[in-house]
Amino acid sequence: MKDHEPDNPLQSAERDIIALGIAVAAIIMLVGTGGSVLPKVMDSLVGNGASPDVLLVNALLLNIALMIFGWRRYRELTREIAERRRAEARARLLAATDPLTECLNRRSMHEATEDLRARAAMRGEAVAYCMMDLDNFKQINDMHGHPVGDAVLVMMCERVRALLPREARLARLGGDEFAFVMPYPAGHDDRVDDLVIRLFESLAQPFRLPEVTVELTLSIGLAADHDADGTIGLVVDAGTLMSRADMALYHAKKQGRNRYFWFEPSMESEMRFRNQLETGIRRGLARGEFVPFYEQQVDLDTGALVGFEMLARWRSPKLGLISPDIFVPIAEEIGLINELSERLMEQAFRDAREWDDSLTLSINISPVQLRDPWFAQRLLKKLVAAGFPPQRLEIEITESCLHENIGLVRSMVMSLRNQGVQISLDDFGTGYSSFEQLRNLPFDRIKIDRSFVSELREPGNRSRIVEAIVSLGRGLDLPLTAEGVEDEEILNALKAMGRLKAQGYFYGQPEDAEAVRTRLKAAGMLTGTQRTDNPLQPSTGTDGGPNLYRIARP
Ligand code: C2E
Ligand code: CA
Ligand code: CA
Repeated sequence: MKDHEPDNPLQSAERDIIALGIAVAAIIMLVGTGGSVLPKVMDSLVGNGASPDVLLVNALLLNIALMIFGWRRYRELTREIAERRRAEARARLLAATDPLTECLNRRSMHEATEDLRARAAMRGEAVAYCMMDLDNFKQINDMHGHPVGDAVLVMMCERVRALLPREARLARLGGDEFAFVMPYPAGHDDRVDDLVIRLFESLAQPFRLPEVTVELTLSIGLAADHDADGTIGLVVDAGTLMSRADMALYHAKKQGRNRYFWFEPSMESEMRFRNQLETGIRRGLARGEFVPFYEQQVDLDTGALVGFEMLARWRSPKLGLISPDIFVPIAEEIGLINELSERLMEQAFRDAREWDDSLTLSINISPVQLRDPWFAQRLLKKLVAAGFPPQRLEIEITESCLHENIGLVRSMVMSLRNQGVQISLDDFGTGYSSFEQLRNLPFDRIKIDRSFVSELREPGNRSRIVEAIVSLGRGLDLPLTAEGVEDEEILNALKAMGRLKAQGYFYGQPEDAEAVRTRLKAAGMLTGTQRTDNPLQPSTGTDGGPNLYRIARP
């Protein structure tokens, strides 16, 4: 029969201390019997007396053997116990730490935070939880490989540790997400601010590795278990601290990364609203609540309608008409932008097929969409399926697309152009495109951002930037479109600059497909209809200004 395994080997080893008991008993016996037997044995050995009783001698020898056995077993066992203890401690450590950086891991950080909070509370101190996220770590990994990425993380942790107070605990929560928790005197949030600022300074120093030098930026969210004035806050568990720091981190990233924020209650409602929007977008997409609106584009000289820019709208039954400034960034973040954009495109191709052949359709493409290497193929396939001529399509990309994978963007732009699709550079002047990029990427048109165009309304009706962009366009032989033509003043100022396309509220607010149909029908520009009216009567617009839920743009 097989011995059943003890459930805890350490316990069973400790039970084996009985071996030590045997040795002790043997010693006692030796003292008891040995006292009378040993002198007799010695006497008989030197020939001074009769030989002792054989039985007693045997008992004595057995006694000594037992003692030796017991002692050796005891030594073995203590060694074994020490070894097992070390192994257990190591296993516990491994389960609690991140093997690369030797920081705590997500699981153990929770406990460490509770622990530190309890100790700090006894001394009347506050605890701050700091959530850190590296902004550009993915690029470092992608560009230089994982071994370099790993080395950077290790170096980064060393720099952070060097700044943290002794009691602070540092953890790696995930790939490039770290957190630390530290005690500080309640009411002195500025101590934490100081440390965080020093942290930013330290991590802004380049990381020099044998193969490359890399630079990091990071975003930070902070939360404390005391209020800024030093009173104990209502929330006092580690879980809430962590989620508050997380919300502050999210806020820091939204504000443009490479910065830090303390948690504020408004962030919680912001987050709730965002989650609602996210759910709303998912649901709205399934229910077909996203629709294309169209903004007229006009030849400035002749006043002729030449095409439309498609602008996405969300007709939310709960929130009303929502601007893309609100839902496009969220759709990008939750990975729905491709699906959303493709649905809108399909609809727009169907709408625009009914328009006069001379009218173009412009579509905005976000940088996230251009990361997909199959974007151009899928777009061309959609054009074929819809029977929409590529020559009538214009896609608008912004300068920020050019900072991503320029090689990929270039090859996609080329394959679209080969099929006759035109490419415009949108919001020109607001980003950082270089002349080099303008020369290398085969754009067909530049769109002057409306923030510059609106300068034309100011006294003197001049904008040096608009003038510079116009002469740049001339020099590069690139046609131009001016956005944001809101009134006659701007219109006249632009007219003086030569041949341009223009769009803006002066010609009308963006309107839905039905309104465009009516407009074009009246102008005889719907396939199979005769002109009955002036096509360029300003539209009252179906997304009528105040009804559209939008974010103010600078
Ligand atoms: P954008 O491409 O610069 O589009 C022009 C924006 O300016 C539109 O805002 C339009 O309604 C507004 N606008 C037009 N004329 C005037 C004017 O005279 N004055 C003023 N103040 N504003 C004018 P909208 O529709 O809210 O779109 C905002 C941005 O959202 C667009 O900027 C575009 O970058 C993006 N977007 C729109 N539709 C889509 C889409 O289907 N996909 C993607 N990825 N982005 C889109
Ligand atoms: Ca645009
Ligand atoms: Ca624009």
